[in-house]
Amino acid sequence: MRRFIDLHTHSSASDGSVSPEDLPALADRKRLAAVALTDHDTTDGLAAARAAASQYPDLCFVAGVEVSARPPSGTLHILGLGIDEASAALVKLVEYLRGARTRRNPKIVALCRQLGLKISMDDVLAAAAACGSPQEVISRVHIADALLRNGCVRSTQEAFDKYLARGKPAYVERERLSPSDTIAAIRSAGGLAVLAHPVQLEYDNLAQLERIVRGLIDHGLEGIEAYHSNHTDRQVRQYLDLAKRFSLAVTGGSDFHGPVKAGVFLGIPRVPISVIEERFAERLFPAQTE
Ligand code: AMP
Ligand code: MN
Ligand code: MN
Ligand code: MN
Repeated sequence: MRRFIDLHTHSSASDGSVSPEDLPALADRKRLAAVALTDHDTTDGLAAARAAASQYPDLCFVAGVEVSARPPSGTLHILGLGIDEASAALVKLVEYLRGARTRRNPKIVALCRQLGLKISMDDVLAAAAACGSPQEVISRVHIADALLRNGCVRSTQEAFDKYLARGKPAYVERERLSPSDTIAAIRSAGGLAVLAHPVQLEYDNLAQLERIVRGLIDHGLEGIEAYHSNHTDRQVRQYLDLAKRFSLAVTGGSDFHGPVKAGVFLGIPRVPISVIEERFAERLFPAQTE
């Protein structure tokens, strides 16, 4: 029996570098019991990943998505796990998110040019194509890559630190939905709505985190990603405690992006499948619990 799961991964359908077709083989090689593909704001990779996963009888594939919602502070990402990507609410959600991204990138590029950086949207499209990303999910990573390729910076990190990160001169806010609309769409698609990497909310103290989580629960939040490659052991314990007190599902994952994101590995941290309570496991892994 396989014991470990990874419920947070990305493919080249968003900003990862492994194709959705290739992800299940990697997960099977790590002997994972389950893997979720949770690309940013898109469900485009799910069909291919699901088809590829069907070749591995010991691996359960979980269809997911990671949605950026309007944050109370820091970054608010909501994972939808076990979604039906064909549901009308989800189709509408990803269409809105795709439009929001498309409207944002040319604004960032225009700011870069005002700063004297020689890049064009064509350079960004070329950078995205070079790493196999589809045009709909072009992100700041690709703009950073274009800046690097054009010699404007020495690393993509420098591009973020100098220009693209929040608070820097070429930063543009992306239009996002409220947490409540985001959670509603995920739930209406049959998904479990989970607060991803709570640490990224950049809360000042645990009381503030608790207030935010309580607000999200009022909007239908059902789980918390206690285990994540960014979390310290102490944070994991704090999030597990929060989950217990609010009867939330506990989930976890690596946030694997492929070799493009150094230092993050599929299946790490190790998340035992036993952290998923039965009432949630029935929804996430229906084939296994039938
Ligand atoms: P976007 O979806 O266009 O806002 O881009 C988000 C992606 O940019 C994230 O997934 C990260 O990979 C990357 N990113 C965001 N902020 C930073 C940062 N400060 N340093 C490096 N990469 C970052
Ligand atoms: Mn990402
Ligand atoms: Mn995230
Ligand atoms: Mn992620």
